[in-house]
Amino acid sequence: MTDPRSCIPGVDALLASPGAEELVERFGRPRTVDALRRAVESVRGEIAAATGGEGTVTPDEWMSSAADPATYTTRAEIDLIASDVPSLRHVVNATGVVLHTNLGRAPLADEAVEAMRQAAGRYTNLEFDLDEGRRGSRYVHCVELLRELTGAEDALVVNNAAAALILSLNTLGRGAGVAVSRGELVEIGGGFRIPEIIERAGAELVEVGSTNRTRVEDYAEVLSGVRAILKVHRSNFRITGFTEETSVADLASLAAGADVPVVHDLGSGLMVDAAELGLPEEPLASASLAAGADVVVVSGDKLLGGTQAGIIVGRADLMQRMRRNPLCRALRVDKVTLAGLEATLRLYRDPATVRKRIPTLAMLSADVDTLEQRARALADALGAVGVRASVVPTTGAVGGGTYPGVELASFAVELDVEGNAHGLAAALREGTPPVVGRIVDDALRLDVRTVFPDQEDDLVRRVAEAHSGR
Ligand SMILES: *Cc1c(COP(=O)(O)O)cnc(C)c1O
Repeated sequence: MTDPRSCIPGVDALLASPGAEELVERFGRPRTVDALRRAVESVRGEIAAATGGEGTVTPDEWMSSAADPATYTTRAEIDLIASDVPSLRHVVNATGVVLHTNLGRAPLADEAVEAMRQAAGRYTNLEFDLDEGRRGSRYVHCVELLRELTGAEDALVVNNAAAALILSLNTLGRGAGVAVSRGELVEIGGGFRIPEIIERAGAELVEVGSTNRTRVEDYAEVLSGVRAILKVHRSNFRITGFTEETSVADLASLAAGADVPVVHDLGSGLMVDAAELGLPEEPLASASLAAGADVVVVSGDKLLGGTQAGIIVGRADLMQRMRRNPLCRALRVDKVTLAGLEATLRLYRDPATVRKRIPTLAMLSADVDTLEQRARALADALGAVGVRASVVPTTGAVGGGTYPGVELASFAVELDVEGNAHGLAAALREGTPPVVGRIVDDALRLDVRTVFPDQEDDLVRRVAEAHSGR
């Protein structure tokens, strides 16, 4: 009996086969050579295992396939296609969590995507003054829109709100004290804790008041020893019961006499009245500034619905100091992000349409009856491809560390998978596009609120594939 391994062609011979020529065309020669080499190795290993172990394949069965170039080119193709799947790719979010931090927070409006495409693929006037024909500043670009929206004197955009906070505290409080209520020494997420941020910004934390109650007199006591007061919005948790916090207005009137700026870290970036979205009240940057905050920090990709960015609005003299801080360069925002943020902010100029055009706002304000209809249509479409699905009321969340405890009433399709919800969920995450659902009481739910209507066909196809075990 001949060893089938003696029939394995050399890589050079394989490269001359029509199948390999096609792979060279598609993937380039070096990668094809590598992939063919791996295919040869794996076939060699499988034959060895079949011969020596208890495999059911006898060497004879390998004779013809070991000699056939297609055996190797087919394997190489699968290998090459798999290694071409991008690491970062779009997914279908069927969790019902609108600002899902792990799924990239806010998906952008079409207008923002188009502005980013243009800024990315061509030269821009990022730091060029077109009127004067000379060097300009990247920090002018969103300023006018942010002033309009918030009533601020000036604005500065950096990489994210965490960076905005560090820049603000470093500029205003480096080498000096920054007063913060003990009820606001919070962790924002991913180990980002206010006490550590103050330290990294080169300032010294001066704790004020107690965990549940901090009064204006508590701040007054430390005022002469601090260079700034930081107020942190409790965006990701609630404290209830015997509580008291000092308002921005009270802090502002206390601090004005002492020339100590009040920095308000708001986080959410909401720019419309929360009631319009059917959500409980959430402080707006405009209200905080109107109440006397000197600097307000918000995130670009939370409730604002824009790109990842940290937006600082407030007093022009303080913004000027921040722009001159060398850290500003290290925390700077890139042109594509700025283009997307500008296009998003521009949509707010028309209050009548902004809620429809910014996906985050559209999803948050989606009407429950419409969601139920969409879930029914989705269940019908799944039924038509042989997948049994029922429509169930469910609850989603705002997400992104905002609105803790607030549930968004929604509708989902629940897939009938006979106890294998985890297996189906895993299969759905694997293909293209990956679909991420939520398991509730051992059943897999796909909440339609966060699924874009133009993703529904893909969703149906992916569920059918995963269901039939492909
Ligand atoms: C989310 C949040 C931040 C951080 O925002 P990023 O843009 O994610 O860096 C800061 N402060 C508060 C209060 C937040 O809610």
